[in-house]
Amino acid sequence: MSQEDELYKNLKRISWQYENCLSCVYFKPNDPINADVFERGMCLHSKLKEFNLIVSGRDWCNLFKEIPQKTIDALQKQAMKE
Ligand code: SF4
Repeated sequence: MSQEDELYKNLKRISWQYENCLSCVYFKPNDPINADVFERGMCLHSKLKEFNLIVSGRDWCNLFKEIPQKTIDALQKQAMKE
């Protein structure tokens, strides 16, 4: 196998991690308007809340549930009022 084929084979294993805290409905970012994967915030999942976890947007766990766009819009609208 050529070096180029080997590289291509390895690249195919790289996949975008999109199920992360930033796109989870239980993530409460400190700054909902400018939140990106480096944003930190609380995890409000009922099973994890008691631990007062500070997670970043790029973290993840198996309790992930995707946040609906309308919830993002509502959070940002609320943050702009504050
Ligand atoms: S730790 Fe899990 S439940 Fe909490 S925000 Fe991240 S993915 Fe969601």
